Amino acid sequence: MSAACQYPLCRNTVPPVLEREGFCPLHFLKRLDAQCSEIRRETLAGRLDDRRSAEINEFLSTRAAVLARLATCGARLRDDTRPCLLSVFLTLINLGERVARATAEERPEVPLVAMRPRLVAQSSASMK
Ligand SMILES: [Zn+2]
Repeated sequence: MSAACQYPLCRNTVPPVLEREGFCPLHFLKRLDAQCSEIRRETLAGRLDDRRSAEINEFLSTRAAVLARLATCGARLRDDTRPCLLSVFLTLINLGERVARATAEERPEVPLVAMRPRLVAQSSASMK
């Protein structure tokens, strides 16, 4: 017997793949989308330090794994839940890129500057 969704007044059941989450697919996706919005706001508010960036990346990768399992486990997803799942997956991808940018902006560009003389040497050597 499947558990009931923890979302207030929802009568849907929780598929085995979401047992740890405690939500039906639709409410799991809506909750995850809201969590992603929070993180997006955090990246807009300022730069991320390495510790917070690592926390967010861990969150994104574990959520992406759960999404992939949900999508491929054979659980019956409602027609309106499928596009929502794809949309949230895209949100995770975009958020991962945003976090990488927010973290990279904080670092000095010394490695790029250090690479330039080598690139110049390589390109001039290849032109001979
Ligand atoms: Zn629900």
